[in-house]
Amino acid sequence: MTDGLRSIPSVDQLLSDSFIAELIPQYGRSLVVKAVRSSLQHIRQASIEGTLVGGSIKEIRSSVENWLISQIQVSIQPVINASGVIIHTNLGRAPLSEEAIQAILSIAGDYSNLEYDLAKGKRGKRADAIEQKLIALTGAEDAFVVNNNASAVLLVLAALARRKRVVISRTQLIEIGGGFRIPEVLQQSGAKLYEIGSTNRVHLQDYADALQNVNAVILRAHHSNFKIIGFTKEPSLKELVELAAKEDHLVIDDLGSGAILDTSMFNVAHEPTVQESIQAGADVVCFSGDKLFGGPQAGMIVGKREVIKKIKKHPFARAVRADKLCLAALEATISHYLKDEALQKIPIWRMLSMPVECCEQRVVDWKKVLKCGEMVDGLSTIGGGSMPQETLPTKLFALSVSRVNVFMKALRSLKVPIVARVIQDQIVFDPRTVLPAQERVFLTEMETLIKKFDIR
Ligand SMILES: *Cc1c(COP(=O)(O)O)cnc(C)c1O
Repeated sequence: MTDGLRSIPSVDQLLSDSFIAELIPQYGRSLVVKAVRSSLQHIRQASIEGTLVGGSIKEIRSSVENWLISQIQVSIQPVINASGVIIHTNLGRAPLSEEAIQAILSIAGDYSNLEYDLAKGKRGKRADAIEQKLIALTGAEDAFVVNNNASAVLLVLAALARRKRVVISRTQLIEIGGGFRIPEVLQQSGAKLYEIGSTNRVHLQDYADALQNVNAVILRAHHSNFKIIGFTKEPSLKELVELAAKEDHLVIDDLGSGAILDTSMFNVAHEPTVQESIQAGADVVCFSGDKLFGGPQAGMIVGKREVIKKIKKHPFARAVRADKLCLAALEATISHYLKDEALQKIPIWRMLSMPVECCEQRVVDWKKVLKCGEMVDGLSTIGGGSMPQETLPTKLFALSVSRVNVFMKALRSLKVPIVARVIQDQIVFDPRTVLPAQERVFLTEMETLIKKFDIR
């Protein structure tokens, strides 16, 4: 043992240290013991590696306290999204509607009829009613809800394409981010990837050639987060369905975003809708719950009765099923569409449909309250790997600050952190994505910071 190791105090010694002993009533003895052990472990390791700096009782005390604070602290907290990115992947994608939140609250602390048929008094089918609503909404024959769209794609391929040839165009061998790559998912599902076409073009004939004399599946993956422009070609879903029908091949459409409403009414590109894919005759359509659908994280699988039945029976189905809180929020979100109130009730659609005049009025109000800053023209984006390059005109509240990075960091360190953008040395705040319920907190926090930084 080196001298360094010998001089390290024991767990018992530290627990009787007056400072550390005083932490016990607040955090409980067993957690403090864990903190002390963790701190000593670090010191020993550093001592052995010869990288130990400090290690004094004062440093041990603060390392023990910091460890305890980090364990108790709530790590997921609300933030204010002033970035103008509507579906911000790093900020939790879609915020839920008031009704979806209430739906979660109403069942979270109680027992529920999740898998219980109240009329018959016996076991019922999980999510049966929600699937019926998805059917009504999308026009599909049947539906199934899983944990997210990545698992939806995995499950669908495992259930329908195992050991089969999955024909996919090279224009669609996408990576979504977070390691989700279509070729790799295909491999994990046990399907055999069969690439056709070139990076920019694929023809119906390429599909016809690939389908000949084999039992194959066509997979179409939506270009969610990138655009191919210029000399490009892809057959329509309808053409693929007609081709596949000749020899009973299945067509799977991974839509990604899963828009239900027509985005083109806001002067942005038309994002393919779920209803269009069902109408075109796809056997299975998968999409996310928390992108343009505007609900909780979920993966929706809708399509033909026989095909969905097969998917529900696959062993993976149980492994990737949606939880009850998700289902509750999802049901409320679906209801907004069914009741034709999505634009008013679903936060992301409210943001998408917010007229620029409304953004302008809010910036005028902010300027009045904060007594500084200026209004500049800007662009909000859809985000969340949806609709790349599509923007909505907005008005921004802009601050000229001498220490931009310091101010940005101060914004992120607030009790309710604010995420803003920097454009040409100005810090800009987009009212489009600041939720109305958070506006008061936003202004109070901003007022404090502006005073602290002495901005005029
Ligand atoms: C986003 C996306 C996925 C993954 O969906 P998650 O809900 O994030 O799991 C899969 N495919 C496409 C085309 C997507 O856009």
